[in-house]
Amino acid sequence: MAIEQSSPSFYAPWPDRLRHSAIILLAAALALAVLVVFGDLAMVRAAAAFICIGAAALVPWRLHDVSASREDVRAVNPVEAAAVAAVVAGMPDPAVLLDRAGRVLHLNAAAAQLAPALRRNELAQFALRSPEIITALREAIATSETRRATYLDHVPVDRWMELIITPVPVPTLFGGADKCMLMTFHDQTPLRRVEEMRADFVANASHELRTPLAALSGFIDTLQGPARDDAKARERFLGIMHNQAKRMARLIDDLLSLSRVELSAHVRPDALVDLVPIIRQVADGLEPLASERQVVIEIELPETPVSIAGDREELLRLFENLIENALKYGASGGRVVVSLSQSLPGEVAPEVRVMVRDFGPGIAPEHLPRLTERFYRVDVGDSRAQGGTGLGLSLVKHILNRHRGRLLIESVPKQGATFTAAFPQAKTPEAT
Ligand code: ADP
Repeated sequence: MAIEQSSPSFYAPWPDRLRHSAIILLAAALALAVLVVFGDLAMVRAAAAFICIGAAALVPWRLHDVSASREDVRAVNPVEAAAVAAVVAGMPDPAVLLDRAGRVLHLNAAAAQLAPALRRNELAQFALRSPEIITALREAIATSETRRATYLDHVPVDRWMELIITPVPVPTLFGGADKCMLMTFHDQTPLRRVEEMRADFVANASHELRTPLAALSGFIDTLQGPARDDAKARERFLGIMHNQAKRMARLIDDLLSLSRVELSAHVRPDALVDLVPIIRQVADGLEPLASERQVVIEIELPETPVSIAGDREELLRLFENLIENALKYGASGGRVVVSLSQSLPGEVAPEVRVMVRDFGPGIAPEHLPRLTERFYRVDVGDSRAQGGTGLGLSLVKHILNRHRGRLLIESVPKQGATFTAAFPQAKTPEAT
C-alpha cells in the first residue's frame, strides 16, 4: 500500500516518540553527572532535577495520547503545516482533509461552498450525513484504501459529485506520520446530463416510431379481418396508413440529418454560398403548401448576392424547416414574410440575418427556451396533425451551431412569431 511504502514509521509512531524522550533524558543525565562529578551540584538536587526533566520530556506524548487536540500535535513545523493547508486550499475541486476519526483539519473554499455544514475540527460524518459516504469513510480509514461514494447536492440546482476518499500520511509533531483522509469532490453533472439526454432521446425516438407502427399494424389487422370486403373502409384505411408510413419516413430522415450534422459539428463549412437563391428555392418549393393553407409568402431579398461560408444542403434544410413551420403553425395569419438583412459596416461581429415572420397565434413565453430541444412541442397533437416530428428546430439549431451562427426566437402571443437565423458575415477577399 502506498502509505506503508512512503512512510515506514507510519504504523509505529510510538517507538519514535520514546526514542525522542530517551535522548532528552540521556542528555540531561550526562549534564547532571558532570555537575555532580565536579562538585557543583549535590546528588539529591541532581536527582530532583533529573526527575523534573524526565517528566517534562514525557508530558507531550501523554497529551498526544489522550488526543486533547489533534491539531496541536499535527505537523512538525509551521512551514509543513502551512504547506498541507496550502495544498488543500489550492486544489481546484472541493477538497477536505480529515483526521483518522473523520474530523475536518483543512478544507478549501470550494468545499465550504459545496457543503457549508463542513467546519474545521468537526466530524465530516455529521455534515455529510449520507450513509454511503459514512460507510466509504469508515472503510477507507479501516483498510487504508481509496473509496468512492456519490455526493448529491440539490441547492440551487441538482448536482452529482463523485467523492473520492484517499488515505494520505500527514507528518506529526513527533516525526512520524498520521493517517489522514483526503476527500475530493468531482463534478459529474455534465456527464450525467448527457447520459440522461441520451436515454431520453432513445426513449422519445422509439416512442415516436412505435406510435405510427402501432397504427399501421392495427389497420393491417382490420383490413385482414372485419374490413376485408369493405372497399370504402379499405380506401380510407390505406390513406391513413400511407400518412403514418410517411410520418415514420420523415422521422427517420430527421434523425439521420441530426446525427449527420452532429458528426460534423466541429468542422465549420468553408465554401462560399449565396443565400439569396437558396431562400428562393425553398420558398418556391413550399408554394403548394402555402396555397393549400391559404398563406401568401412575401419575400424581401436583395438583388445582389449575399454569400456566407456554408453548406448548401444544410441551409436548404434550415430554411425549409423555418418557413414550413411558419406556414403550418402560423397559417391563421394569412402571410409569412421572409427577409434578409446585413449588419451595417463597422459592426464588431457583422452578421447576415434571415428572418421568417408569421402572423399566427405566436408562442407563449414559457415555451420559447425549450423549442430547440429534441421532440419538444408546444402542442403534441397539433404537431402530429401537421406531420411534425418535433425535431425541426433542433436540427435548425445544430445547423446554425455548425455555421457558428445563432437562432433568435421572438414571439408575442396572438401576434405571430419571428425566427431569425443569424450567420457570421463572410470575410471579403480584401479582408482575408
Ligand atoms: P415540429 O416537427 O413539431 O414542427 P419543430 O421542432 O419544428 O417540430 O417545432 C417545435 C414546436 O415549436 C412545434 O411543435 C410548434 O409547437 C412550435 N412552433 C414552431 N414554429 C412555430 C411557429 N412559427 N409558430 C408557432 N409555433 C411554432
